[in-house]
Amino acid sequence: MQFHLVPVTPFQQNCSLLWCEDSKRAAVVDPGGDLDKILAAVEERGLKLEKILLTHGHLDHVGGTAALSKQLQLPIEGPHKADDFWIQQLPMQAQMFGFPSVEVFTPDRWLEQGDQVTVGDQPLEVYHCPGHTPGHVIFFHRLSQLALVGDVLFAGSIGRTDFPQGDHDTLIRSIKERLWPLGDEVRFVPGHGPMSTFGQERQSNPFVADKRFG
Ligand SMILES: [Zn+2]
Ligand SMILES: [Zn+2]
Repeated sequence: MQFHLVPVTPFQQNCSLLWCEDSKRAAVVDPGGDLDKILAAVEERGLKLEKILLTHGHLDHVGGTAALSKQLQLPIEGPHKADDFWIQQLPMQAQMFGFPSVEVFTPDRWLEQGDQVTVGDQPLEVYHCPGHTPGHVIFFHRLSQLALVGDVLFAGSIGRTDFPQGDHDTLIRSIKERLWPLGDEVRFVPGHGPMSTFGQERQSNPFVADKRFG
């Protein structure tokens, strides 16, 4: 499995291209906007987009979803159904943040804890990690020890929990009970900022380092 990050929107959200080396079939994870930038990165690598994967319903992660899905006839997988209220509010979020207007959409498949999605021939495990939003999911490719965690965890920080249906304790539990068991070696792509590993965050992240919990 290969990946490439494309920072999009004024929030510099890490949109990711994920592809299967053998088939060149690819998924775009969290197309927040700037579709021209995303599609240029796809073309440059000779990839064939087959689906859109979403971690959660925030504008900067899903703003380009409806347009991209329509343009290329791509199915949409994720997030968990509990984020539907965020997706329904997309036009309002766009107005609030001064984004170009966006359309509401309905994913072809809502995801749940324990589900699996595929990119080409490669399987990714799905973990439900509520706290930042109630329907947030993360994707894990076990073979390459790579996780795409959206706004659950960042290098040196964690997702905000002051939004409707956000909850700090729930987020901490998601990180400790759903992410850490995947292993210290796992590299992760956060929704914003640089990549890191779970082991590094367990050591030095002021919000979730092991020493904080004794
Ligand atoms: Zn978010
Ligand atoms: Zn975000």
